[in-house]
Amino acid sequence: MMKKMKQKLGGEQSLAVERSTRWRRGLSVMGVLLGLVIAMAGCSESDRPLEPPVRFEGNIFGTFYQVTIMDPLTQGESLELEAGFKAELESVDQAMSTYRDDSELIAFNEAPLGEWQPLSNELIEVLAISQSVAEASHGAFDITVGDLVNLWSFGPGARPEEVPADDVLAEQLAEVGFDAVEVDTQNMQARRIRDVFVDLSGVAKGHATDRVAAYLNQQGIEHYLVNLGGDLIARGVRDEEEQTPWRIGIEVPEDGEQRAQHIIPLESMSVATSGDYRNYFEVDGQRFSHTIDPRSGRPVTHQLASVSVFHPSNAWADAWATALLVVGEPDAIQMALENNLKVLLLVRDGEQWRSIASPEFVNYFGETLVNELGIESFSISPSPAPEAVPAIQPVTGE
Ligand code: ADP
Ligand code: MG
Repeated sequence: MMKKMKQKLGGEQSLAVERSTRWRRGLSVMGVLLGLVIAMAGCSESDRPLEPPVRFEGNIFGTFYQVTIMDPLTQGESLELEAGFKAELESVDQAMSTYRDDSELIAFNEAPLGEWQPLSNELIEVLAISQSVAEASHGAFDITVGDLVNLWSFGPGARPEEVPADDVLAEQLAEVGFDAVEVDTQNMQARRIRDVFVDLSGVAKGHATDRVAAYLNQQGIEHYLVNLGGDLIARGVRDEEEQTPWRIGIEVPEDGEQRAQHIIPLESMSVATSGDYRNYFEVDGQRFSHTIDPRSGRPVTHQLASVSVFHPSNAWADAWATALLVVGEPDAIQMALENNLKVLLLVRDGEQWRSIASPEFVNYFGETLVNELGIESFSISPSPAPEAVPAIQPVTGE
C-alpha cells in the first residue's frame, strides 16, 4: 500500500516538476521585480524622516520608561536607537535586579561571606556610588536593607502586607549596616562580611537612566528627555528654534494624583524624586512606605513627603533622594547643605505642603524662578557678621 502510494506520488511529482520549472522561471522574474519593489519600499520606509518628537515607551524594572528625542531621525535610525537603549536597560536588569534569579547581584548575595567576588564594571560603579552616599548620609542610604525590605513586604521575597514582629525585626536589623559590604574599585571586586541581602533598587533605576543617556550621547543625539519611572535626565532643548527647554513636573505628593506641583526647566541635568506617597501599604490607617530607615528597621514616617534631587548623574540623584527622605526634614536640610546638593523638598503642612529649596537649588535655577514657583529657601541660621559679634565688655570694677 505504501509502495503504491509512493509510486503514484512519484508520477504526479514528475509532472509537477516540469510545470514548476516553467512556473519558477516566471516566478523568478516576478520575484526579482517584487524584490526590487520591496527593497525600494523598505529602503524608503527606513529612510523616512520622522516628525519630532519621536517617543518610545514601554515597561521595565516593574515601572515604565519614556524616551523622547527631538533630533531629526529616520524610521530606521529610530528603530536602531530603540534596540540600543533597550539593550542598556536589559543589561542593568541582568546586573542588578533582585527580582531575577540569574542576576549578577543575586550571585553576589549568594557568594560565601568574606570572599572577594570579581564583579562587572557597572556593578562595582553602582556599589561604589551607594557606599559613598551611605557614608555621606551617615547610613541613611544603606544597600544592606534588603532583608528588611522583604520583611516589610516590598521586594522579591515579599511577605503579606503586615507589620513584622519586633523580635524578627530586631534580628534582621542586627545584621544591617553598610559596613557589611566592602568594595575594592582598584581590583573590581566586592565582598559581604556579614550575612546581608544587598538591594540596589534605590539606585539602579537612576543608574539605568544614566546608561540610556550615555548611550544616546554616544549615538550623537543632542536633544532628549529620558524618564524611567519618574527618574529623569534631559539634554539639549525641547525646541531648538525657540530654545524652549525641557520642562519636568514635580508631582503633588498624593497617591492617585498625577498633577504637577511645580514645573521646572531642565537642561543637561537629571532629577530623581523619592516620596512616601506611591509605594506603600496601610494597616489600621497607618501608612508603611517602601523606604526603610536603617536605624530603626522601620518604614520612614514623618512630614517630609517628597524629595527631589537634581544632579548631573541620576544614580547619585536617586540614592540621595532616598537618603534625604529617610532622615526627614530638619536633617535633610542639613545634609543638603553639607553636601552641596540641589534639593527640593515638599513638606506636609496640614492638608497642604510647603516647598523648600536648598541654596544650591536656588543658585542653579535662579531666585526669580524660585520666587515665581512659590518655593521657600532653606532658612540657614545666619552666622553672626563680624560687627555683630558683641564686643567684650571691659570689666568694670565696682
Ligand atoms: P523612590 O523613588 O521612592 O526612591 P526607589 O525605587 O528609587 O523608590 O527606591 C526605593 C527602594 O530602595 C525600595 O523599594 C528598597 O528596595 C530600597 N530601599 C529602601 N530603603 C532604603 C534605604 N534606606 N537605603 C537604600 N535603599 C533602600
Ligand atoms: Mg528613587
